[in-house]
Amino acid sequence: MDSKYKLRIAFTVTCLAVATILLANKIRKKRKQKNITSCYLKSEAKPQHSFKRVLANNSYAPFKHLKLHENSSDLHPYESEIKALLENSQLEIEFSNESMDMSMSDKYVWVDDESKLKELVEVLSKETVFAVDTEQHSLRSFLGFTALIQISTRDEDYLVDTIAVHDSMGLLAPVFANPNICKVFHGADNDVIWLQRDFHIYVVNLFDTAKACDVLSKPQRSLAYLLETYCGVTTNKLYQREDWRQRPLPIDMVEYARMDAHYLLYIADCLVSELKNQKNDNSASENSATLDDKLHFVSEAIRRSNALCLQLFTKDLEASPGQSAAASIISRHLNDHGNSANNSQFQDLVRRLCCWRDLMARMHDESLRYVLSDNAIISLAETAPLTSADVCTIISQADIDMDFLNTNSSPRFPSSVVLSHLDDFPCLLQDEINNLDDMFQLILKKHLGPNGSCPFSLYNYGLLSKTNIKLSKKLVSKASGYKLSKQVARKASRELFVQKFSCKSPVYHNCRIYANDGRLLCYCDRRKLEWYVQRDLAKLVDEDPPAIMLLFEPKGRPEDEGNDFYIQICVDCHEKAHSAAERYKKKVALEFGIPLFVQKVVNSNEEQDVSGSSTSVMKLGDCGVSPLELRTAAMALMRHGPRMPPQRREELKQVVKKYYGGRDISEEDLEKALLVGMSPHEKRRLRKKRGISLNNTSLNNIVSDKDIKGDDVDSYGNEVQEPENGSSLDILDPSEPNGQVHPSSDGSVFATCSSKLSLLGHGPHGKQVVDYLLKNHGEIGIQEFCQRWRQVFVESINPRFLPAGWDVTHSGRREFGDFSVYNPANKASVATKD
Ligand code: AMP
Ligand code: MN
Ligand code: ZN
Repeated sequence: MDSKYKLRIAFTVTCLAVATILLANKIRKKRKQKNITSCYLKSEAKPQHSFKRVLANNSYAPFKHLKLHENSSDLHPYESEIKALLENSQLEIEFSNESMDMSMSDKYVWVDDESKLKELVEVLSKETVFAVDTEQHSLRSFLGFTALIQISTRDEDYLVDTIAVHDSMGLLAPVFANPNICKVFHGADNDVIWLQRDFHIYVVNLFDTAKACDVLSKPQRSLAYLLETYCGVTTNKLYQREDWRQRPLPIDMVEYARMDAHYLLYIADCLVSELKNQKNDNSASENSATLDDKLHFVSEAIRRSNALCLQLFTKDLEASPGQSAAASIISRHLNDHGNSANNSQFQDLVRRLCCWRDLMARMHDESLRYVLSDNAIISLAETAPLTSADVCTIISQADIDMDFLNTNSSPRFPSSVVLSHLDDFPCLLQDEINNLDDMFQLILKKHLGPNGSCPFSLYNYGLLSKTNIKLSKKLVSKASGYKLSKQVARKASRELFVQKFSCKSPVYHNCRIYANDGRLLCYCDRRKLEWYVQRDLAKLVDEDPPAIMLLFEPKGRPEDEGNDFYIQICVDCHEKAHSAAERYKKKVALEFGIPLFVQKVVNSNEEQDVSGSSTSVMKLGDCGVSPLELRTAAMALMRHGPRMPPQRREELKQVVKKYYGGRDISEEDLEKALLVGMSPHEKRRLRKKRGISLNNTSLNNIVSDKDIKGDDVDSYGNEVQEPENGSSLDILDPSEPNGQVHPSSDGSVFATCSSKLSLLGHGPHGKQVVDYLLKNHGEIGIQEFCQRWRQVFVESINPRFLPAGWDVTHSGRREFGDFSVYNPANKASVATKD
């Protein structure tokens, strides 16, 4: 075929196609006049529409991992292979010491069909090691997808067009899972999971150059840093945010992409040789480093790398669609605008809009931020516009403010999803729909039902399966009283733990705080991040997930280089350390004779007013009960007692009985128990709201709603939500005898403590211990006490490495921050306020 002939065919085909499209458009326009809306997806083709094999769809059903054996459970399919590598982390591949030609030739292989992919697999299966990087697209996709994979051997750079060969990518799975072939990545945390999500590719035998940097305590761990130090080349990481779906890929993006994998093998060589030469500073002996020591650092880097491979991709679960986003928007807004956001219509609209956004994003396979920004949701909820024109204006206005952050891959406002479904808004913003569930079903039917407005796809058909929705709801819906499956319960408890101790909030709040020299300080939630930004103490450097850079030198910063304790300790270790600490606290309580919790001893025939008696006695250790636990139990019994399973009811009764010294409890006792640990502020709030005095009104008609913080209990008496901050930790009114502390029998505790104390948690206990130590042993007593705690920490998690300056017996002092309540200067001012 000569090229002229080819051209002519191409021209004819194009003309025909154009004519067909024009005709179709005309017909559609005619239809439109009747039907008003037509979904933009009917005329817009997105690259992922060509995929025929989609592993992670946008339904609420859990992701299905590869199953190698019939009866294998939800475990990692290569768990045993990876664990074998973890137990025996030896370097079996030879990293060479060859120097590298730092100039990158023009030659590379673009892999965009199945036969080229097969050739690549052929090449890779003969290698002992190859380097990998991936590029993702996340704006126009709900879960995101891999748009490019860069693979480099010592001889060649391959760019795999994962859009073109998407459905054949499984061909690469065997080399990635082969434990005899080492895969070098830089910062593989996400790549490992993305490869599972899109292709069921599981990485076994990983060497992560970022992990090697950690083990070597390098000043930085970014790839840009490594490229510059080892290879003398500079990269522009802004390319990360480019649209990697573009084809043909612009030449500068090709160069950037190649660079991310091309030098990795050489960098790994350098790092491995440094690891081998590293002396073990922790070895106390004077002997020269043994062979064992030398291998120590290499195997630690390998162990940490392969630990990453055990991660599994999961879809985020929430109790109802969009709920966690709504909660975050509301809390953020509450923070910004105080009471104006505490408006139930505002909150209701935010929840509806978030639910709509979640469902629409899944249906159209778009990211949440593409469909509707958080800012737009806030503006819409505040103004509840009546016309479509107003809806559009408000959304554009809200997003113009965010425009300065826009990069090439940011959406245009309002999005095509909003524009082609504007007729949803009257129902969303004005109608009286009783609950979100009904609204969810309504939207779903309208758009994906039998006569729905939006096209079906591999991504959204799963949403229709009723069992899916019901099943996943059943799994995650706590408040409605379903029993959680074990797996979900485990996940939930882990998440709660992460929330409490690791980042303070789930992934949705995965905000980072950088120091002014670009070093990552910690993760935090949005509130904290915004607190800094609003006060001009930090600037926003990244939007999604958000990150700020502090404009001042932080005080509480880990001083010694390499001490990344606060950002590096893993959740599991943290959990271990935490439970060891809880055990140790009990020991301390016994040793010092200072109780952890309060217990009220009341004779059954002695009529007493809980908030007015002076006979509270503190007892030791575990015979007391935490006020939070007490209140939660009492609340659950009052609200749901008769409907509870008898066993659960009995359990909760025991909690309350414990507080009353074991005697039988009456309805009135329950009511009184509700007041324990409640701050005057909380009581005031309640009074104000209901216009009644708590002391002389039956609590039954006061606490029917969720008025009291910390009383969100489901019908099983489980806490649904722990109070986050503020009122639950409020200090007690000094006039309340419950705040008093009386000497225990051995007289080791000070007499009545008249200062304000929190009764929730172990606050009073901690304060008394410190007071006791200060009085009897002075500063040295405190220092020794701290050292005992460090010992407990070290013994509980037995870390393999401790940062250079770390020592259980160190006696360095830490200053309190300017605003810390423990700062002596502030203590004085607090006292004068009372
Ligand atoms: P990299 O590990 O640098 O190759 O990044 C892989 C992919 O992660 C990129 O293609 C982006 O999709 C995503 N990514 C990484 N960092 C960022 C960022 N700062 N902003 C947006 N996307 C990012
Ligand atoms: Mn990259
Ligand atoms: Zn649509």
